[in-house]
Amino acid sequence: MNTPDLKGKPMKTKIITTIGPASSDYNTLEQLLLEGVSIFRINFSHGTHKEHKQTMEYIHDLNRKHHRHAGILADLQGPKIRVGRFQQESMLLTKWETVTFNCLDLLDHPGHIPVDYPGFAKDVSKGERIQIDDGRLMLEVLETCEATGQVNARVLYGGDLLPRKGINLPNTRINLPALTEKDHQDLNFILKQKVQWVALSFVRSASDVVELRHHIASRLQRKAPLIISKIEKPEALMDLSNIIDKSDALMIARGDLGIEVPLEEVPLIQKKIVRECMKKAKPSIIATQMMEGMVKNFSPTRAEVNDVANSVIDGADALMLSGETSVGHNPVRVVQVMKKIIEHVEKTEDLYYKELPAEGNKRSRRFISSSVIYNACEMAQQIDAKAIAGLTNSGYSAFQIAARRPKANVYIYTSNRSILSKLSLVWGISGFYYDKFISTDHTIEELLLHLKKHEIISAGDMVINVTTTPLEKDGKTNMLKLSMVQD
Ligand code: PEP
Repeated sequence: MNTPDLKGKPMKTKIITTIGPASSDYNTLEQLLLEGVSIFRINFSHGTHKEHKQTMEYIHDLNRKHHRHAGILADLQGPKIRVGRFQQESMLLTKWETVTFNCLDLLDHPGHIPVDYPGFAKDVSKGERIQIDDGRLMLEVLETCEATGQVNARVLYGGDLLPRKGINLPNTRINLPALTEKDHQDLNFILKQKVQWVALSFVRSASDVVELRHHIASRLQRKAPLIISKIEKPEALMDLSNIIDKSDALMIARGDLGIEVPLEEVPLIQKKIVRECMKKAKPSIIATQMMEGMVKNFSPTRAEVNDVANSVIDGADALMLSGETSVGHNPVRVVQVMKKIIEHVEKTEDLYYKELPAEGNKRSRRFISSSVIYNACEMAQQIDAKAIAGLTNSGYSAFQIAARRPKANVYIYTSNRSILSKLSLVWGISGFYYDKFISTDHTIEELLLHLKKHEIISAGDMVINVTTTPLEKDGKTNMLKLSMVQD
């Protein structure tokens, strides 16, 4: 079994870094991986397929070199409306002036703002708000004309408008499909690569997630990536429970969310989503502006340190860095600082052992596994176990153990490398490749030896094993063993 350096306590909360011009070279990726990044995010709103392929190849190579299982998250742009291109560098919008949005391609028509969505004039209505560039510019719709595709609007907050900036329509029901033409092209590329997580932007209802899952399933049966729903629209909050059910994980995409709903609502929404995800054993990710100041500065602000710490306390599975690592001046230092905060906050007892009942329905496919895992976590708490170590075929046990937030470190073994990289996003899970299927006793013995050899456990520690017996391929967790590590 090849094992990375495991000395020290593993971080329970995972770090996701967005890769961009500041971090896509081999050396920076290597340093990020060694500093503890678990998931590399590739944002398909930027860059070319050729660039993304190169980044992915570097990550695969580094995983092999360092015996790691860092995962790749491909983030689809989704139905994002953008300002079109114009020839000047920028266009000055002055408070109270009236401008015309034009969804026809009228390049450089004075006073006209091109928009890349043909249905714009049909969807927006008089009195609604148009926000541009993360809400820096705000306009109010005065009149719309479907026939000409034009929308007149009054500038409420002005400033310089740059081409390709994002447009948010917080009061408008947008009729764009969940997957745009660009998303389909990106998915065609993504599904040919080794990508473990796909994020769907601007999810509005659970049916958006179902659509993406059908699309992926029609292309890939095995090793299909798992789906992260990005919560950044008010409509998604109305269908939150169903979206959690249909997704494999959720991202609280605070950038767009903070434009689409009043900013002051974001902190409580964050707490609610993390809580609801944990109840359903679905990972949650907190994203955007966690250490924004470090795009330029050497240190985070006190408020940013608080934000990272509070996100760990909320119980998120992963914290995501965006501009800080994609275009920031020192991506590696940002990860070092974030890691320090996480490790410090994880010393508090308040984070651990969350109430989560076992599956109650005896007829459920997962009743037995769920009961074993529930009892393993209860026992780990009672006896102050050092580790929970288990085998998984599907990843189910790992998600279930993690959702109970045990203080005992969790070591998961599987013969499926794709699952290992998926589990890189999940709270508290350290994963290892293991492909021997001799017997349950033999496996438990080997796992304990492996953990002992790497000084993860030592004589006198209590360890709980969850696995399957008899050890047959695709068996589900059905047994629990408690042992004290011997000299
Ligand atoms: C966000 O809006 O917070 C987000 C993560 O999405 P993106 O970076 O794609 O805008």
